[in-house]
Amino acid sequence: MTHDFLIIGGGIAGVSAGARLSELGRVLLLEAEPALAYHASGRSAALYEAQYGKPATVALNLASRADHDSLDGGVLSPRGLMVLAGPGQGAAFAHDVADMHLTEVSVAEAVARVPILRSGAIHAAAIHDEAWDIDTDRLIQHFARTIRTNGGQVVIGARATAITRLHSGWEVTMGDTVHTARMLVNAAGAWADQIAIMAGIAPIGITPLRRSVARIPAPGGHDVARWPMLMGAGEGWYAKPDAGQLIISPAEEDPVAEPHDAWPDDMVLAEGIARYQEFVTPEVTRLTASWAGLRSFAPDRVLVLGPDRLDPAFIWVAGQGGYGFQTAPAASRLVADLVAGRAPELDPDLVAALSPARFRDGVA
Ligand SMILES: Cc1cc2nc3c(=O)[nH]c(=O)nc-3n(C[C@H](O)[C@H](O)[C@H](O)COP(=O)(O)OP(=O)(O)OC[C@H]3O[C@@H](n4cnc5c(N)ncnc54)[C@H](O)[C@@H]3O)c2cc1C
Repeated sequence: MTHDFLIIGGGIAGVSAGARLSELGRVLLLEAEPALAYHASGRSAALYEAQYGKPATVALNLASRADHDSLDGGVLSPRGLMVLAGPGQGAAFAHDVADMHLTEVSVAEAVARVPILRSGAIHAAAIHDEAWDIDTDRLIQHFARTIRTNGGQVVIGARATAITRLHSGWEVTMGDTVHTARMLVNAAGAWADQIAIMAGIAPIGITPLRRSVARIPAPGGHDVARWPMLMGAGEGWYAKPDAGQLIISPAEEDPVAEPHDAWPDDMVLAEGIARYQEFVTPEVTRLTASWAGLRSFAPDRVLVLGPDRLDPAFIWVAGQGGYGFQTAPAASRLVADLVAGRAPELDPDLVAALSPARFRDGVA
């Protein structure tokens, strides 16, 4: 049986695009790993911060907000964001305040909100309440369920190993099985360029950058539930309440040579924890878990959404970087609009800024 859309990748990009496309035709989604959201989508900090990212990303964040509030009864819950600056971080702090529309507060107010803060270490602090936790698991499950409800299939443990262009579409090999589809949707995260190459499409230069995370017990035994996410000025580190504990990230962006099942670099993690430690009084003595994920960026750090000009039956849903969850509702809607030939709800300049065509200048 020929499918309308064969989607490669069962992270947030693939399931969200699949859900929207399942309203237009028959979807088959293939995920190589034994579970959905196994790679980047299972390792995120799960924050919705509308002002985080390049202007095109911010526009997608904002356009996604209504869906985040309504899908599956709403997937956001209040978190807030506090940026902290130490000595010599004034310029980075000023950028953050301007970029993310933060309000400067006194050190005493910062400490009143988060009692573990070491007041002597903080030169400046700023907050805003407009940052939210995303229930990422519910979002993934919601979109996967939508695909199935609309008659599509989600297959896990299904790695695409070969892709052939047919006159009328695509043939995708997965072990002993061969599937055919009219359109191929590349939602393979860190593997997006590899999928393109397998399909005979020129890669775009999607680069996977590793980011590590450690989880620690609630510092000082505090109830952390209502604390905002803490971020070092210039995103030098961050810490965020997570199921009664705290996750800490060095916020590194270390390129990896080949996409793989990422793991944290112990030195990088230790240095990041030390940067966090400068701002708080309780010592970090124990990690309860650690992991890393690959945040995959296009050369201009903006998502890549839509049909390839070289072959419009090849659809990119890639380059989600550090914004895959917060942008997914609007990004997936845009992809479906473009595939359906409908006028997108988004501004045409924004659609152009997101289009894979921006990497095809001079290519016939
Ligand atoms: C530490 C960290 C913190 C983050 N924090 C946030 C945050 O606060 N907010 C936010 O919005 N985003 C955040 N992100 C970013 C977000 O997690 C990603 O943008 C998003 O998960 C990318 O989703 P994806 O579906 O493109 O990739 P993935 O989730 O990696 O999915 C791609 C899938 O494709 C599959 N695949 C690859 N090749 C094949 C093949 N040949 N056949 C079949 N399947 C294949 C892979 O197995 C993989 O499961 C964070 C990321 C990290 C690592």
